[in-house]
Amino acid sequence: MDFTIPAEITALQAAFSDFLEREVRPLEDEYARSFWEASVDQAALKPVVDEVRRRSAAAGFYAPYLPEEVGGEGLSVVGTTLLVEDAAASGMRLAMVAVAPPNPAGPSTLLLKLPRHLWDDYLIPVAKAERTMCFALTEPEAGSDAQSIRSSAVRDGDDWVINGHKHYITNGDDADFAIVFAVTDADKRAAGGITAFVVPRDQYRVGKTQYNLSDSHPAELFFDDARVPGDHVIGEVGMGFLEAMSFLNAGRAYIGAQSLGLAEFALRSATEHVQARNAFGKPLAKFQGVSFPLAKSKVDIEAMRWLVYHLAWRVDTQGDPLAIMGDASITKYATTEWAYEVADRALQAFGGMGLMNEGPIERILRHLRMLRVVEGASEVQLLVIARTLGL
Ligand SMILES: Cc1cc2nc3c(=O)[nH]c(=O)nc-3n(C[C@H](O)[C@H](O)[C@H](O)COP(=O)(O)OP(=O)(O)OC[C@H]3O[C@@H](n4cnc5c(N)ncnc54)[C@H](O)[C@@H]3O)c2cc1C
Repeated sequence: MDFTIPAEITALQAAFSDFLEREVRPLEDEYARSFWEASVDQAALKPVVDEVRRRSAAAGFYAPYLPEEVGGEGLSVVGTTLLVEDAAASGMRLAMVAVAPPNPAGPSTLLLKLPRHLWDDYLIPVAKAERTMCFALTEPEAGSDAQSIRSSAVRDGDDWVINGHKHYITNGDDADFAIVFAVTDADKRAAGGITAFVVPRDQYRVGKTQYNLSDSHPAELFFDDARVPGDHVIGEVGMGFLEAMSFLNAGRAYIGAQSLGLAEFALRSATEHVQARNAFGKPLAKFQGVSFPLAKSKVDIEAMRWLVYHLAWRVDTQGDPLAIMGDASITKYATTEWAYEVADRALQAFGGMGLMNEGPIERILRHLRMLRVVEGASEVQLLVIARTLGL
């Protein structure tokens, strides 16, 4: 097996690091604290987030996985994964905005399944960071069991009319349009009865912003006779659920890469801290009670790395998404769980400073706690893994 990263990708990583330091670091230094905080007014931060997205799109880093014809670079999943890891490992919250996956506000590859005449309205403006979107699947009565959604879409002449209530939708309060999943055939549901639509902002109502422990505050969306033209369907009618599932493997690699990068940042910060801080007449690092947990974190990080890279390589090179699903779930489960433990050990090594919101770890821990729940909670990944065992 050859695990060498191609020279063109390492060159891209170097250019991305330069970009982050030059274009994002100054904004991070000025605004970072507010981004991580749980109760900050989201709207006040919007101009800064938009600016980072625009700078990144102009430099070619925002959505590099898209084809060149729509403003991307045609970058592989391996290449994109490495950029996501680097963004998270920088420790900058705004760096994680600079590269679209795994942030649902950026262009989903699902938009490539829209009719081409709609790309100028939806796909290309999001790829250029002129507009943003959201991905609206979860409902109050259907989270892990997503195929139980109640939102419905019915034909009315040439249009579709959508009714339903979504919640926990990231970027829901700011998006210019939503990718919305609704039932079009209640008997078939996941097997041909759920359709994905693009719905412009003027067709739905945004409810409350849902502030929570993490650094990402989603919103409720209400669809009351939302009307879209018949061509606003992603892929085929009835195939929305399966379309979404087929993109999940790459999504799991990106969540894994973000977890890996944050774990690297946490370990690096803790390592520097225990070398610099003294107790009982010597650096904390000299106590094995301090250094061994960090050594264990290094083991976890290397194991995470190869799970993530291997999954990304499989998505790039192997056609059948169903065959990769088990590996995708293993990667999502292991990386989010282990990264959380790595951050928790780093917090312990920092002592009281670990708990302070001015320190480097507390915010990372909160973000990682969220990743164990979103896009398929850990238990749902175990469910898929158990199925691969025939259980
Ligand atoms: C900050 C944040 C952002 C989000 N962003 C989005 C978004 O942009 N778009 C979107 O559509 N959704 C989004 N979500 C929703 C997220 O994907 C769901 O919260 C998640 O899928 C879990 O669903 P639930 O909250 O309904 O929990 P439930 O489904 O009620 O699950 C509760 C618990 O039961 C466990 N459980 C459920 N079924 C089983 C089972 N069969 N076996 C064992 N354990 C089980 C779960 O793992 C979990 O621990 C977001 C959520 C949060 C918190």
